[in-house]
Order: sequence, then C-alpha cells, then structure tokens
Amino acid sequence: MPTEPLPTLATDLHMVANLASGLGASRAQNGHTASNNHVELLAQALEQSPFGIIVMDIEGRAEYCNQSFTAMTGFTLNDIRDVAAHPWNTAESTDAVYRGLLSSQQADDRWNGDVQSHRKDGTTYWERQVVSTLRDADGKHTHLVVFKQDISERRRRKAAHEQTRRLQEQALVSSSNGIMITRSDADDHSIVYVNPAFERITGYRSDEVIGREGRFLLRDDLAQPELEGIRSALREKREGEATLRNYRKDGTLFWNELRIAPVRELTGSAITHFVSVINDISERVCYQQALEHQANHDSLTGLANRNLLNDRIEQAILWAKRNNRVMGVMLLDLDHFKLINDASGHSAGDALLKEVAQRLARCVRETDTVARLGGDEFVIILTDLPQPDDVDQIAEKILSSLSRPMDVVGRDVFVTASIGVSLYPRDGDHGEILLRYADMAMYRVKEHGRNSVRQFVPEMGSSAVSRLDMEAALRRGLERGEFLLHYQPKVDLSTECIVGAEALVRWQHPQIGLVHPIEFIRLAEETGLIIPLGEWVLGEACRQQVVWQQQGLGPVKLAVNMSARQFRQEELIERISAVFAGSGADPRHMTLELTESMVMHDVDSALASLRALKKLGLSLSLDDFGTGYSSLSYLRRFPIDELKIDRSFINDIHLNADDAAIAGAIVAMARSLGLLVVAEGVEKKEQAELLSSLGCNLVQGYFYARPMTVSAFTTRLQAQHPQAA
Ligand code: C2E
Ligand code: MG
Ligand code: MG
Repeated sequence: MPTEPLPTLATDLHMVANLASGLGASRAQNGHTASNNHVELLAQALEQSPFGIIVMDIEGRAEYCNQSFTAMTGFTLNDIRDVAAHPWNTAESTDAVYRGLLSSQQADDRWNGDVQSHRKDGTTYWERQVVSTLRDADGKHTHLVVFKQDISERRRRKAAHEQTRRLQEQALVSSSNGIMITRSDADDHSIVYVNPAFERITGYRSDEVIGREGRFLLRDDLAQPELEGIRSALREKREGEATLRNYRKDGTLFWNELRIAPVRELTGSAITHFVSVINDISERVCYQQALEHQANHDSLTGLANRNLLNDRIEQAILWAKRNNRVMGVMLLDLDHFKLINDASGHSAGDALLKEVAQRLARCVRETDTVARLGGDEFVIILTDLPQPDDVDQIAEKILSSLSRPMDVVGRDVFVTASIGVSLYPRDGDHGEILLRYADMAMYRVKEHGRNSVRQFVPEMGSSAVSRLDMEAALRRGLERGEFLLHYQPKVDLSTECIVGAEALVRWQHPQIGLVHPIEFIRLAEETGLIIPLGEWVLGEACRQQVVWQQQGLGPVKLAVNMSARQFRQEELIERISAVFAGSGADPRHMTLELTESMVMHDVDSALASLRALKKLGLSLSLDDFGTGYSSLSYLRRFPIDELKIDRSFINDIHLNADDAAIAGAIVAMARSLGLLVVAEGVEKKEQAELLSSLGCNLVQGYFYARPMTVSAFTTRLQAQHPQAA
C-alpha cells in the first residue's frame, strides 16, 4: 500500500538509500580500488543505522541484514539467508513489488509503502518500507535494498487521534448544549458553525446564522451587567463565562449560561476562533425565580413578606445612614378585619386583603416597600422622608384611600385601619426595634378608637420586651401571681350611679411596671396561656364580688372578658362551674363579655355553649359590637343579655352624623330585642348627652371613670353606699 512519505522519515530513508546506491556506483566505477576506509565507513553506516536494512540478491535471497532489522523482527541473517519466501512479509504484495522493481530497468526505481509485517515470534507490526535497487556498472540490477522503520506506535497514535477527532465531531453534533464557533478577529466575530442543539435552542437554522455576528442572540438587550465579562474575554482572547438573556428566533427570552473559549491553530499558537457553549438554563432560572419569589413574597397579595421586609428595612436604614436621611416604618392593621372574615367567609376576606394591598401600593413610591406580615397586618417602609412630618401626610393619604368602599365579591365593604409609625434615626437604628415601636404606636391607635395614625413616642417603649422574653415572663408572672384586676365602672346615664364594672386584667411586671392587656393578651392567646390566665381572672373577679357583697357594697355586677381560645376550650362549662363553686360567688351577678367573631365562628357549637353558660345563671354580653355584620337575625338566636357598642362608633358620635345614626340604630334594635346597651369609650360630655338622647342609658368610659384599682373602686362604691360599714 503506497503512501505519501512522511517528510522526515522519507528524507532519512532516501538519504541512506542514495548512500547505498552510491556505494554500488562507486564499486562499479572503482572496482575493488575503493578505499578500505570508505567501505568500512559505509558498512558501519549500514550496520548502525537505526533503520532495519536487508540487502537481497535478485532472486530475493537475503545476503545482509543489520542489527536494527534483527532488533525489530527477531530474525537474524541465518534465519533468512537463502530463503526466497521473505517470512516477514504478510502479503504477497510486497514480494510482487520486489519482483517488479528488479525486473524494471528504470534508473531510479524505488518504492515505498506502509505494510504489516511479521516478527519471528509470529506477532505483527506496522512498518514503512523504502525499497530500491542496486545496479552494476552496466546498469543491471544486482541487489535489492529494503529499509524498514517500525511505525506501529505512530500509527497507533494517529488512529487514537483520529478517533478523538471523530468523537469530538460526534459530541458537537449530539451535544445537548448549543455550540457556536465564531471567528476571533477584532472586527469579525462571524459565525462559522452551529450545532443541532443550537438550532433547537434558538429556533434558527444553521444557514440562517452562518456569517452573522455572534452577538446577534442578544438583540437590543445590550445593557446586561455580565456582558462586559464576555466582551473583555473576546478582546483579550481568553476564556469567559456569563449568564445572559438571549432571544430566540420567535422573540422569546431564554437564559444562556454561556462559556466561551479561544480555539488555537493546529500548528502554531495563533487564535483563530472562539467556541461558545450555550446552555439554556431558562427552566432553572424560572424555578429559582419562583422559589425566590415564594420565599420573599406573600402568596395572597404578592407583596413582600416578613423575610424580604427585614432585608429591605436594613437596606433602607443603611441607605438613610449613608445619605443622612430620615426613613419611616409604618405598621398598619385593619380594624375589625376578623369580623368581615368570619362573617363573609375567607374568600371575601382574601379579596379584601388583595384590594387593600393594591391601594397601599398605589399610595407610596416605587422605591418604598409594602409588605404583608400576615393576617391583616401590613408594613410600609418609606425609604426617604424629606420631613419627618411627611409620614403623617402619607398615612392620611392611605387612610383616605382605604376609606373608599371596596367591592368585595359584589358587595361594598368599608374598612378602616390603625397605623403606627416609627422613624429612623429618631426612634432607633434597627429594623426589629423600629417595627416593634411602630407596632406599639399602632396599638395606641387601636386603644384610642382606631382609624387613625400615631407616631411612636418613647414613653410607649418603656414596656418594650421581646416576644420570647415576654412569653417566659408571662408564664413566670402567672406562677408568681403578678396579675391583678382593675375595675372600670359601668354607669347608668340617668342616675349617674355605678351599676357594675368591667374587670380588666393588668400585669404588675417586676421591672417594667404595670403592663396593659393590649401588650400581652394576643401573645397569651397565641401561646395558650390565656386559658389559665382567663381562669385566674374569673376566679379573682368572683372572689372580689363576694368581698364587696360581704362589705355590704353589692351586689356589683362584674363583667369579665373571655377570649376566643378560652371560649372554645373543651371543658368550658365544667371549668367555669368549678370556679363559681370554689369562690361561692353568685353567677347571676357575673357577666361574660364575648366578641361577635367568637360566636360567629362556629354558630352551632357557640349556641350550645352560650345556652349552657346561661343555664349556669351567667349574663352574656356582646363586646365591641357594631362593626362587621352584626345582624338582627343572629342576635335573635343567641341568648345574650347585653350589647356593648364599640368605642370606634362612640369616638366621633358627636361630630359625625353617620356614626350617630349607626349608634341610634344599634340602640333601637337592641331595645326591640329586650337587650341592655352599653356604650364603650365615652370620653366627652357631648357623647354622653347624645347617647342619652338616643335612648342608651348605660355607659363606660374615661369621662366617668378610668379602670381603677380595687381600693379606688371600693372607695367609689362606699361613696354610693354611705350606709355600708
Ligand atoms: P375591652 O373589653 O373592649 O375593654 C375596654 C377597654 O377600653 C379597656 O382597655 C379600657 O381601659 C378601655 N377604655 C374604657 N374606656 C375608655 C375610654 O373612654 N377611652 C379609651 N380610649 N379607652 C377606654 P384595656 O384595659 O387596655 O383592655 C383592652 C382590651 O384587652 C379589652 O378590651 C379586652 O379585649 C382585653 N382584656 C382586658 N382584660 C382582659 C381579660 O381579663 N381577659 C381577656 N381575654 N381579655 C382582656
Ligand atoms: Mg370588654
Ligand atoms: Mg370592648
């Protein structure tokens, strides 16, 4: 099998062949006169040549072989002398070549080719042979010289290289990554090759992109931050990677995790091309984005959640610090949301929260953050307040935006909100503290009639205790008897006499001082501590009731608040009867205050409990009444004795005709049902007068008396019972 001689080998072999021919020629010319030295030299050259050499006569019988031939094949001259069959040859073909050369009379007959030969031990190997003839003075062939080089290793390397190349080609074609090869000239990055995966990912056929500039997949989206990395890698002709937004033929976006690498010429080191590996990671990015979104956003409203909020507050504080600006945290809690939720169902509640979220977002700037903490609590971070008072204007804007009716599943619903505000740097420089202070300020709003805004003032912070500390302290407080009751008189408007009192729990914290229920009732509910606490309150009120009775100051009708969790406990009736049995108090002089949402929660079981409580002889009062969906039909069904009109209606009753009308309607409705009506939160004379004219004759409020200690209340009672001891 003839082949193109490899340049170096061919040169060597031909040189030696020529030398050998020269030897023949000089012999012919000079007969035996050639110098011994010269012959010696040539003999050594042949003998020590790194190529295997055999010299044969024209019959093909070996007359000479050198050491290299023996080393290569294992045959010595003895093995092959006089053997015409050439045992090293595997094929007839080389013998034919030899015969052809010998019979030819061409002057420089020569043949070369790669053949597979045998060693003496039967194994095979590849060799390159260069065969030439020796002639005598007449030009007649006398001998054949065969030069051999073992090329097995070279062939093996070449085959391996070939296979790698084929694999690479295969890999390019079948790769699931898109591959694009571009030129690497400064002014020419045109595409020379794309693989099928590229076509699949981008939607472009190979012939549509060959010749175009590689960056065409970016379209006009050139302001991507990671792009600079790729540009400089191209400029500096080195590897680079980036995640980029690319665009398919149909215009849709895909995320390309791109790697580029320079391609060097086979020989030399010049960089001629770039290979770009395109990995479409859109799915992964979408999934990550969804996960991130989920982790940082509230699924109902799409607003930031607590996670993201914490992050944003800290960022906003940092920014304000750096730029010497004021930053505001606004905590907003809807008033009576639970009533709407309980009365109209959760889907209505959800719709309302979504609408609120949208309105809030419209009231603030893009750079501000609106977050939902859960339930009906929202937080707004106002990143840059030119004036601290601007926060009040924004709050007013929010309150007015919320005051427009909301279309919730086809019905107009009205909501109000209580807003508390804290400011950086005035109130603190930690997100957690600012949130807690805004929360305290918000509770003050709730306390003072809701639907308004308040800024934090340091006095509110005196009872600032973290939730965890608070929970442990609550437990300890219960064990150590740190709770006490204050009593707020219920006054008969017509006589201005105290006819009863509401027992309101207080916590005498050893360090903080007197803590109001607003600060701990919610936590007590959440932790279940409300059950032992509520039981203690009832027991203590019963005990006090007996004391006043024994002092000749009674009977005073005492009202005790009951929480939802307490009301829903399994053995409610048994436990309450046990408290009464233990204290010796008369249930007929006790009232339990429940809220609308508690009895609306599960009407049937609530009804059963209410009936059982009534059977014990207790009176039942509906607290915070007047918002939400208090309806006549259900009031009729419930065995209650009294309604307490919520403070938020009494607040503006003397200023706002609507509020007065609502209060009037509640009073009329209650009376038609034979219920007592108590107006809560009466702070002004005008309010009292108006209530009186509406037919409401029981009131409770600061105008008459604030909640007071046992001894203060005893004094008031004594004033009313001068005959008592
Ligand atoms: P509530 O049952 O509506 O109690 C009336 C609250 O209104 C009391 O607040 C009282 O101090 C306040 N208040 C009375 N008159 C006025 C007024 O003229 N103006 C204003 N702005 N406020 C007035 P307090 O004592 O802070 O109690 C707050 C709430 O904590 C109570 O609201 C009640 O829901 C709850 N709570 C109090 N004690 C207990 C208890 O022993 N058990 C349970 N479960 N909850 C309790
Ligand atoms: Mg109450
Ligand atoms: Mg109330």
